[in-house]
Amino acid sequence: MDIVHLLPDHVANQIAAGEVIQRPSSCLKELVENSLDAGATRIQVIVQDAGRTLLQVVDNGKGMSPTDARMAFERHATSKIERVEDLFALSTMGFRGEALASICAVAQVELTTRRAEDETGYRIEIDGSRIECQEPCACAAGTNIRVKNLFYNIPVRRKFLKTDQTELRNLLTEFYHIVLVYPKVHFTFVSNDEILLELPASTEKQRIEAIYGKGSGRNYTAHLLDVHTDTDLVSIRGFVSKPEACSKTGQQYFFVNGRYMRHPYFQKAVLTAYAGMLPGEYTPSFFLYFDIHPEAIDVNIHPTKTEIKFADEQAVFQILMAAVREALGKFSLAPTIDFDRQGEIEMPVASAQPAQVSAPRIVVDRSYNPFHRQTPAARGWEAMYTETRATASESERLLERSEITDNREKITESREQAMWDIDLADARPYQYAGRYILVPHEEGLFFIHQHRAHVCILYDIYMRQLAEQKGTTQQLLFPEVIDLTADEMVLFEEIDQELRAIGFEFDQFSPTSYSITGIPAQLQEAHALATLRDMLAAVRDSRSTARIEWQKQIALSLAEHSAIPYGKQLTDDEMKDIVRRLFALSAYTHTPKGQRVLTLLTQDEIAKRL
Ligand code: ADP
Ligand code: MG
Repeated sequence: MDIVHLLPDHVANQIAAGEVIQRPSSCLKELVENSLDAGATRIQVIVQDAGRTLLQVVDNGKGMSPTDARMAFERHATSKIERVEDLFALSTMGFRGEALASICAVAQVELTTRRAEDETGYRIEIDGSRIECQEPCACAAGTNIRVKNLFYNIPVRRKFLKTDQTELRNLLTEFYHIVLVYPKVHFTFVSNDEILLELPASTEKQRIEAIYGKGSGRNYTAHLLDVHTDTDLVSIRGFVSKPEACSKTGQQYFFVNGRYMRHPYFQKAVLTAYAGMLPGEYTPSFFLYFDIHPEAIDVNIHPTKTEIKFADEQAVFQILMAAVREALGKFSLAPTIDFDRQGEIEMPVASAQPAQVSAPRIVVDRSYNPFHRQTPAARGWEAMYTETRATASESERLLERSEITDNREKITESREQAMWDIDLADARPYQYAGRYILVPHEEGLFFIHQHRAHVCILYDIYMRQLAEQKGTTQQLLFPEVIDLTADEMVLFEEIDQELRAIGFEFDQFSPTSYSITGIPAQLQEAHALATLRDMLAAVRDSRSTARIEWQKQIALSLAEHSAIPYGKQLTDDEMKDIVRRLFALSAYTHTPKGQRVLTLLTQDEIAKRL
């Protein structure tokens, strides 16, 4: 008996769907791209339960005839290409004719559509690839597609979906990727009957402001510089942030021919252009739009793939880096780079050294003392430690219970174990250069980085507080309001439990803000909002959905913001306390981020020199 046979269509469609439609956000991408391909100028996205129950896209595009509407759900049905050669002249987002067929294989779909020239529209209902109903209907010109109960017939897939908040964030991320490229299109995003984003037709800059202005405090785009370069190979336009507006996290977007792309190599080109201008962990924001001949990139990309291959990546790297440097150079009003050779691929990289660009000045407030706060709720060094000491002793008791010990082991497992078994009972620490604590020891001389050491100590305390939900709170006399972007709002809700466990108290204040009424006891009031923003960014950038990972990020942000700064003079007792606490940790040689905390100058090394 022959055993080779063709798969029935609905099975083939479900398999294809597995590749194209992985979660609600991939469905959103396909539907919105179809609306854009149809020339829509207004697109509304409506979701219920983060797209699980309903994902609807309404557009005012060109609509479909009844026959086209039926055909559109067949696999490899597309109006966009006919021949292989067409692939290379693509101006549309979709071309494989797979999306609708895939979506209707894994959901219940209802479509109404009408071309402007037709008097009546057409309605189709499909349930798991089967047409249930089709009839003429009255409807607005354009297309309205409702995808209900995604993956209802593939329970495994449905189970793989994350919490509603995570899926909603995924939806918004995908949405941002699209709306940032189509500022002329009016977009609306509605989630559970609440308008999360209303984005009227605008310029690129206004669109960026509409999305990120909220989160950054005010006037986000005032801190962006224009980038513009035109060569035979590629033209690059867009915006990069001014050096002084950079922070530890940035919004970093590349788009090529109207599509979002990830490109770590090009990202490096931008970072290289900032070389020497940013303090340590700071990174710029950028929104860069590439236009390149479709033949110079791999267009036949997988629909869900965001990494795009360029034929001549090195040349593009040089052009990009030079363009960003030029923007930064112009801004600093230094003599600008000679760009007369524009058009040639070989850019004057060597002459574009950032020497002409002055680095931002970092102002250090030497009188700044984190242990003496001016606020009425001020707590000094002593109070801070009494507080943590109390918590620590409480923790110690709890630690005897094995489950917490296990948890602690997990927290520290990734960090290097201690190398020295040190008895510091009568160590006499000495502060050097306002940033190091020197500790003589029989093996040699320890140099301890005071800020990093304190970060390690606090991190350990905060991780325990998070595990035990025992953070201490100081009430704010005047609540602080934090404005957030739509996706940050969702993220905030997601980590609500962790934020409360560490000592924050808050209420939602408006659809785009929270009012903060209490903050962790050790945190300076003036640092509260910056710390919260760092936490949100750190959790988001970790791209993790594991709560323990969130806890690590939150503990680390808080530790970094509340640790003693550089330049702070320490008393002998304070130094002893830090040293004692540091060496009591199970991992003290590196910070959770991997920065070195201490080094030992051995007796031998000293003897060699003297
Ligand atoms: P592709 O976009 O790759 O062509 P799809 O499965 O996404 O494949 O869509 C199939 C076809 O259905 C499209 O080529 C287009 O002709 C039609 N179509 C889909 N969505 C819309 C829409 N919103 N407005 C008008 N036509 C649409
Ligand atoms: Mg499509």
